Amino acid sequence: MIYQPQQYRIKDERMKPFIDPEEIWDFIRDTKSTKERVREIIAKSLDKNRLNLEETAVLINTTDPELVDEIKEGARELKSRIYGERIVLFAPLYIGNYCTNNCQYCGFRTENKKQHRVTLNKKQIHQEVKSLEDVGHKRLILVYGEHPKYTPEFIAESVRDVYKVKSKNGEIRRVNINAAPLSIEGFKVVKDSGIGTYQIFQETYHPETYAKVHPSGAKRNFDNRLISLDRAQEALIDDVGIGALFGLYDWRYETLALLRHVNHFEATYNIGPHTISFPRIQNASDLNLDNSYAVSDDDFTKLVAILRLAVPYTGLILTAREPIHIRNEVMRYGVSQIDGGTNIQMKGYSSKDAEEQNLDTEQFEICDTRTLGEIITELIGTGYIPSFCTACYRLGRTGEHFMEFSVPGFIKRFCDPNAILTLAEYLEDYATDEVKEKGYKAIFKRLDNEGYKNEKAIRERLTKIQNGVRDLYF
Ligand code: SAM
Ligand code: SF4
Repeated sequence: MIYQPQQYRIKDERMKPFIDPEEIWDFIRDTKSTKERVREIIAKSLDKNRLNLEETAVLINTTDPELVDEIKEGARELKSRIYGERIVLFAPLYIGNYCTNNCQYCGFRTENKKQHRVTLNKKQIHQEVKSLEDVGHKRLILVYGEHPKYTPEFIAESVRDVYKVKSKNGEIRRVNINAAPLSIEGFKVVKDSGIGTYQIFQETYHPETYAKVHPSGAKRNFDNRLISLDRAQEALIDDVGIGALFGLYDWRYETLALLRHVNHFEATYNIGPHTISFPRIQNASDLNLDNSYAVSDDDFTKLVAILRLAVPYTGLILTAREPIHIRNEVMRYGVSQIDGGTNIQMKGYSSKDAEEQNLDTEQFEICDTRTLGEIITELIGTGYIPSFCTACYRLGRTGEHFMEFSVPGFIKRFCDPNAILTLAEYLEDYATDEVKEKGYKAIFKRLDNEGYKNEKAIRERLTKIQNGVRDLYF
């Protein structure tokens, strides 16, 4: 059961809360940004070293526009040198929006009586997943409110239901989760259903602000949430995603606290989080929130570049909350995963009524409402390779972002070829003739120019895909 915080009593030294607000503020107050120091730090990151708290604070304190441009340029360089042009695509699917918490920023908060509450039944899950498969999706993140209905068994069952849906050549190959913290036993139950990443955002790492925006409900317990992903680790879910909701408190503090969270994982489990998310607060149903910490576009794009340099081997996720121009800009600084064709209204993918956004049937407003097809067309047109790859997860190669970063040749041997193969599947099964032509042109240009060692094998597999074989990967 989810609602017994006493279950979460700290049994182990490793699971002690690790955020000290004074320490974080000291780093921000006591560091100065100089041209020499900023350049040294960027060079350190480009040399494939992660940054420490002090170095990251120097970047955070950089306000000289020319130096900020150098930080962004450094992030762009790191992304293109190490990761190349792949962008992994996924879609969120809301399973249920009942919630007993009262998060002041969220349309699902319990006191919001305008919100229509829905929990998808098996048939509705089937319809939603079929609609997602029919446009080409292979990776989903399932999202749940926090409610006694959404037990670990319920979550695990919904994951299994999603994997069962097969529509023509479509199938979901990786299901990630964004749901409430569970007990170690609960995490084990969910892990057994075959999930990829379990995401839990701390929202704000500032305890006082946390208390203010979480006036009631189980989520009110800051420490319980902070160490929730440690319990996931104990349950052997080593693929976890952290995040902060930007706009609740000072962005400089939250950025450094995210790095502190990464440090905690690395020191304790020898592996950092798989991904970091940095949503900015969007409008939501009946919202009345103090916006004195709203993050400007300039600070937001800067903080994404800083995170890229600070933790060069962690996946960065950016969702359709952001408008197209911001998504396009920060993709260049190192975002590796984006959602596409997103509709976060309950039953939104299969329902005709859900074409217009309605805040009373969704958690918050999204700004990028393009279809998956439109996003793929634009990605191809701007030189990216859209990817639906799930190979590492299915071959048990966990920590793939770390491997991409640290294993020489990993990207050219595995990631790029798999991106190409999953793009070819998309082109065969879901693209218009025009996009298909552009997509193959981009693929063959890449094969001609990149000097892949397994080029012959990639070409053979492409031919098989064109002849109807699916799910080929390295
Ligand atoms: N109920 C679970 C929980 O709170 O952990 C699942 C997550 S919630 C459905 C997904 C995430 O959306 C939250 O963790 C929060 O960061 C984000 N979110 C909530 N309200 C938001 C808003 N108004 N704008 C942008 N993101 C928001
Ligand atoms: Fe519920 Fe999550 Fe929204 Fe908070 S953020 S009200 S826990 S759905």
